[in-house]
This record gives sequence, C-alpha cells and structure tokens, in this order.
Amino acid sequence: MATLAVPALTPPPRGGESLLAADDVRKYYGDDRSPVLDHVNLELRDGEFVALLGPSGSGKSTLLRIMAGLMPPSEGRVLVHGEPLQGPNPQVAVVFQSFALFPWLTVLDNVELGLLATPLLPAERHARAEQAIELIGLAGYEEAFPKELSGGMKQRVGFARALVVHPEVLFLDEPFSALDVLTAENLRAELQELWAERSIPTRAVLIVTHNIEEAVTLADRIVVFGANPGHVRVELRGLPAAERHVKNATRAHLVDTIYQIMTNPDQDAAALLEQRLMAASQAPGRTTGGVRARRYQTLPDVSIDDLTGFVQYLATVGGRGHVHELSRDLQMRADDLLALVEATDLLGLADLQNRTVLLTPTGQRFADADLDEEKALFRQIAIEQISLLRYIVRELETSPTHTLEAERVLDDLEHSFSSEEARRQFETVVDWGRYAELFSYDDIAGELRLDEEHRITADG
Ligand code: ADP
Ligand code: MG
Repeated sequence: MATLAVPALTPPPRGGESLLAADDVRKYYGDDRSPVLDHVNLELRDGEFVALLGPSGSGKSTLLRIMAGLMPPSEGRVLVHGEPLQGPNPQVAVVFQSFALFPWLTVLDNVELGLLATPLLPAERHARAEQAIELIGLAGYEEAFPKELSGGMKQRVGFARALVVHPEVLFLDEPFSALDVLTAENLRAELQELWAERSIPTRAVLIVTHNIEEAVTLADRIVVFGANPGHVRVELRGLPAAERHVKNATRAHLVDTIYQIMTNPDQDAAALLEQRLMAASQAPGRTTGGVRARRYQTLPDVSIDDLTGFVQYLATVGGRGHVHELSRDLQMRADDLLALVEATDLLGLADLQNRTVLLTPTGQRFADADLDEEKALFRQIAIEQISLLRYIVRELETSPTHTLEAERVLDDLEHSFSSEEARRQFETVVDWGRYAELFSYDDIAGELRLDEEHRITADG
C-alpha cells in the first residue's frame, strides 16, 4: 500500500495536545425536551485512537455529528485546539456505515467530492484523489460506479473520500458493520497499518463500534457510552500496541470486563471496573463484592439446530422480523426467542434494533452457504466470539493426548456460574463445538477430543 505524500508534514508526536473536545455537550432533537445526549465530555488528543462503544440509540452518531460541526449542540461546546467551534469542522472527516456514496458519480468523482469545499484547483483535487485511491487499494477502479463495487470496495471509497482531505481527525461511524467478517477484517487490518505506519497525516481517530473485540484490537482508549440519555459511563485504557494481537489473558480480561460493563447497563461502571480489577489481582473468576466476575460470557441456552434454523428462517422472510411477529410465527415463547436473538447477536449473525431482528451480511452469507461453508463460517466466528470455546480448543491443543475431561471444564465453569448453569453452559458449548467440528465429545468417558482436521484455529 502506498504512502500518502504530505511533504511539509513530519509525523506529529503522539499522546499530546488536545485536538478536539466535546465540552459538557447536551443535545435535544426538535421540541423534544428529553435530551439525547447529556453532559458529554470527550477529548481527543494528538496520537490517540479512541473507540466508542455503546448500545444502539445512545447518541453515538449524534455526538460524532456534533463534534464534526455538522450540527450544533443544544448546550455546551465543541473545542478545536481549545477554541470553540462554529460551523462545520474542516479538520474532521467522517466514514459512515452506509458508505453514503453518490450512485451517479464514479469512484474518482466520489472521492474528489471530499475536496469540493477546499480552495484547491481542479488539477490538485484530481491528484489528491488519485493518491487517496491508490493509498486505499482502489487503483484501477477510478472510473467504476458504486453499483459495480462490492460492499468492501464501496467502503474503500468511503475511506478514500475521508482521507483525501488529509483530516487531522478521522471519525469512523461503524465503518465495518455492513461488511462481512472477512472483508471487515481485511479493511480493519489495512486501516491499522496506515495508522501505525503513519502513512496518513491524521493525528487522532475516533471509531464507533459495537464490536468489543474490534475496540480492543484498535484502540488506545475505550469509551463506553450509556443510553437514555447518552452519556459517558466509563473510559478504559486500551492494551499496549504490542499486545493487541496476541490473544492472551490480559486481552481476554479486558474484553470480558467491557462485556460485563455493557451487559449491566444499570450498574455503576466504575464500581464494576474496580471489582474486576480486584478480582483479577486476587483469584480470577471468583466472586467479589456483590458482583460475580465472570471469566466467560454467558452463552444463551440455544441448540445449534434452532440457531441455524432461525437464521435460515430470517433469510426467507427478507432478513428482518419484529420480535413479536417472529415469536408468533415461529410459535415460540418470548424468552426462547430472545435467547435465539441473543445467540445470533453474539455471533454477529443478526442485530437487534428497536425490537426488530436484522440479519447481518455475515448472517446472510451463513444462510446462503452449503453445509460445509456454513460450518466453516461458524467455526471461524465461534472461535473469534466465544471465549469458552476458545478456551476449550486451546486446552485441547496443549494437552499431549488432545483430550480434556468434562469434569475439568465444569469445575472451571463453576468458578463463574452456579453448578446448574455451568452444566447448561457446558452442554451448549459442546453442541456448538461439535457442529463446528472443533472437537468431539464422548459422553460415556466424559471426555472432549480435538478434531484433528480443524486444529489450526485457536491460537490464543
Ligand atoms: P446511535 O448512533 O448511538 O445508535 P443516534 O445518535 O443515531 O444513536 O440516535 C440517538 C437518538 O436520537 C435515537 O433515539 C434516535 O432516534 C434519535 N435521533 C437521531 N437522529 C435524529 C434526528 N435527526 N431527529 C430526531 N431524533 C433523532
Ligand atoms: Mg449510530
């Protein structure tokens, strides 16, 4: 990948001055007197990559629009280098989830559009656009129209259009969520490389994501948002850059901590965090204070047959369905349906928005796949997303006989769950792991056995 030439610009020192800040920002939409954002303070400093996590509808996109100067706050201020912002913020460029490309313009024209508000001459605009296109791996597609491009390529255009302005601050609003896992993975890795190697003059990045793993992989600092009204619940320091890609205990602990915070929206995040830190320094996974510090996510009690059936069903009804209708049409109890929704959400196969279940592109791919592809996709996602499954495969791989006693897993689960729930978690993970052909389970011997054919997957 080429480097964007910025002659006059030597790489800035990192972790420094305040570039952009929301200062006590409140926002009401229209006449509505209940705020969407309430007293939000968020600062981006030189050299930082910050991730913003939070439930949908909590006002993350609203905050981005305000900080980009696309819309004023109702109260409070946005500060650019300490000075109050008025009107659009020319230092900021935004990449949206929805790509937001003009279908009637070519790739080159879409990218050049990012520069329309600048005083550059047409020839300069053209050259800059060519550079950005090259940088983001779109060379050769200059004359293509958006409809001729895959989702991944469209989002590359989105990135090029943002980077072409050489923004000081880059906002990414769920830029990978409309892409399938592999495409997202590639683009994320490339973005990370551009940033790490300072191939772009951008001095701070703020990414909105609902993917905890993504936040942990990318960010120096992780801000967790709460809803009703939107507010900052807690900020966490990210992993040191060198540790981002190793799947070790520190990383797993951070992921689980954030998961705990996000799945307990009514608890005081700072107190939760403190408990987690204490739990980590004492006996990991033991109960501390009033909260059980879980080492694992809670797997919804869902069989693989129900899970695959549900994804297929969603695909046949157009990839979306309201929970009430689904519950009625599938003749399921609401809590059983919600367990299914939770499972598909955990695996990134579907999203729940305003009580509507939406199949993700990955979910669609899963539904369209033949059995082998379906299993391969499930194997990849499950290893990525399910910490218990990762743990079991890792143990199996390190065991000289490539076996593991069920009792040991159960014992371990009982540090985090009641014995009844531990049993349930075990049965679910065995069901999922067998289907993924990661391991087999001999229930007479009470022993898990590694599936040799697919034993390359869990490296951490
Ligand atoms: P998030 O990005 O965290 O999902 P948003 O910022 O998109 O949240 O939305 C926050 C809340 O503000 C939601 O309840 C949404 O319905 C509402 N909202 C967003 N944009 C507008 C708008 N232009 N007018 C009125 N309400 C809006
Ligand atoms: Mg949003």
